[in-house]
Amino acid sequence: MKLPSYVIGQWHEGSSDGVEVLNAVTGDPICEVNSDGIDFAAVLRHGREVGGTALRGMTFHERAAALKNMAKHLMAKKEDFYALSAKTGATRADGWVDIEGGIGTVFTYASLVTREMPNDVVMVEGDVERLSKNGSFLGRHILTSKPGVSVHINAFNFPCWGMLEKIAPSLAAGVPVIVKPATPTAYVTEAMVREMIAGDFFPEGAIQLICGSVGDLLDHVVEQDVVTFTGSASTGRKLRSHPNVIANSVPFTMEADSLNCALLGNSVEAGDPEFDLFIKEVAREMTVKAGQKCTAIRRIIVPAGQLSAVSEALQARLEKIVVGDPEAEGVRMGPLVGRDQARDVRANVERLAGECSIVYGGGEVSLTGADGNSGAFFPPTLLHCDAPFSKTLVHEVEAFGPVSTLIPYDSLDDAIAIARLGKGSLVGSLFTYDDQEARQVILGTAPWHGRMLIINRDCAAESTGHGSPLAQLVHGGPGRAGGGEELGGMRAVKHYMQRTALQGSPTTLMAITSEYHPGAVEYSDPIHPFKKHFEDLRVGETLLTHRRTVTEADIVNFGCISGDHFYAHFDEIAAKDSFFGKRVAHGYFVISAAAGMFVDPSPGPVIANYGLENLRFIEPVAPGDTIRSKLTVKKKIKKAPRGEEKPNGVVVWAIEVTNQANEPVAVYDILTLVERRDA
Ligand code: NDP
Repeated sequence: MKLPSYVIGQWHEGSSDGVEVLNAVTGDPICEVNSDGIDFAAVLRHGREVGGTALRGMTFHERAAALKNMAKHLMAKKEDFYALSAKTGATRADGWVDIEGGIGTVFTYASLVTREMPNDVVMVEGDVERLSKNGSFLGRHILTSKPGVSVHINAFNFPCWGMLEKIAPSLAAGVPVIVKPATPTAYVTEAMVREMIAGDFFPEGAIQLICGSVGDLLDHVVEQDVVTFTGSASTGRKLRSHPNVIANSVPFTMEADSLNCALLGNSVEAGDPEFDLFIKEVAREMTVKAGQKCTAIRRIIVPAGQLSAVSEALQARLEKIVVGDPEAEGVRMGPLVGRDQARDVRANVERLAGECSIVYGGGEVSLTGADGNSGAFFPPTLLHCDAPFSKTLVHEVEAFGPVSTLIPYDSLDDAIAIARLGKGSLVGSLFTYDDQEARQVILGTAPWHGRMLIINRDCAAESTGHGSPLAQLVHGGPGRAGGGEELGGMRAVKHYMQRTALQGSPTTLMAITSEYHPGAVEYSDPIHPFKKHFEDLRVGETLLTHRRTVTEADIVNFGCISGDHFYAHFDEIAAKDSFFGKRVAHGYFVISAAAGMFVDPSPGPVIANYGLENLRFIEPVAPGDTIRSKLTVKKKIKKAPRGEEKPNGVVVWAIEVTNQANEPVAVYDILTLVERRDA
């Protein structure tokens, strides 16, 4: 079977024979992969002109809703993907990380974008920057979708997750994607993309797939495109230095080989919970996906005094790993993705063995339910490097399989120095119950890592583990790991957008961003804003309330209701000596009194007040001071109704409470839910 690509609105089969892909377990042919005949410049144009135009016409929330629907559909089809995933050598547990972990990432992005981004096509970032004395000239950063495409060149090891963790933020950002899976597992990616296209979740052109070579595609990328790459450092370097990528300053994110470490603290001894947790995690990381994980532990850094205890405990655990057909009962580790990969891993183990000794594995392995001559099997293999400062291969050679090396250290400073010799890793983990030791190791190693986890008896049971990148947290690493950053919540979405610093008048900035800026033109209306539906409120609409003179009785009453008898409100003598020099009202009284002034009490479309943000008390309020409040519609976020909920939206109101001298005494934002007229 020829594995097709999906380009320019249709499925395309390569015109000549392709690269044959074999079942990793049985060696049976699965498909041929070839992208001959594709006009790659036209694919890019189709993405930009057809997909991009339509995607940018959708708001962030509409794109998030499409992501959610797509994720639901893929989840319903998950068993189809598991069946294919087993042919790549993945056990059910391996497949879960790739398939359900990947779909979970799409769900996470759908809700993150709905929560944190406006229902608009432009978003603001950071605070208003006051650039002038009188406030007539402000600065603000905005983010807009790049009108290009993002090209994702992916590795073989995560055909689903590797695609989904990149397309979710890109599509949310309004940038169409061209997915290029690695040939050995492209058939799993193709099956998933087929479901995405059939489900029609995104407009035509938003998702394209190239199975096989990307030909001259990189010759045609332009300044608005983005390229991401996961795979070997050598291919990554080659693509990153492509003349057209350099000439057009095309953002290039690279995630490459990484000699990740797990470090056992100097304070830990055999028998401690952290010792057992360390052994369990290292053995797991060596064998999950047969070690074909960019985050797998390659270097096991342990106190010299614990070396033999760690080595024995690890071997005892590896002994229990049943290798074989991932679909056979009891099998815990499948084959590598193909026989080429197995040859690569063997060659790398042989290189490592030039400087290290093989402690366990390395040779033949007995198999359950599989034939060693047809499948790409490789045994869990443990090595030992006795001189990590003079022998360098252990810090350079990544055997991308179930292979890891024990490295002893004498002092914590040495352990830190050894970790750094990896020259930049995706992830490192530390096992210790001594928090001072944790601080020392983390401060010493963090600049060399994109993610670090510290495991002890208190957090282990709920830990997500060394090897799992999480949608909310950064994935990527410096130096050898490629220098890229993926995931990390909103950071990934922003990666596909252009940040622009805007400078102008508050009113102009309000018109561009749909967000009120202090000093912008304000609108008032005889109808109280709490009597208006979501659609009828206008950003910049303001209510200036009546005044109220604060009395000592207010302070006493508020103190009695709240139980807050702090000296600054109740002790005349202490208050005189205090920062304020006199008794003052409670800050919380001021904001409660402000609400009393701006609220319209009778029933109306305002459903609830559900929060307050950015509160600052600026000037004290003393008995005799007269305050008033100003309520301004700052921004509006239309929400998708949940369950039986009436359609509504979030209205953020900027509140300013001033005194008789017109000085602000408190400023903050409140968030209310307001019914929509169509409710
Ligand atoms: P490669 O770097 O060879 O391939 C990665 C991706 O790049 C694949 O999609 C591949 O496509 C594509 N590619 C290769 N050459 C080009 C090119 N000239 N132009 C455009 N695209 C290209 O890595 P592999 O997947 O083969 O893995 C090899 C090694 O990389 C592993 O043994 C491991 O050491 C490391 N690796 C590291 C990972 C990490 O995240 N740290 C992940 C996976 C691998 P195609 O398959 O069609 O050639």
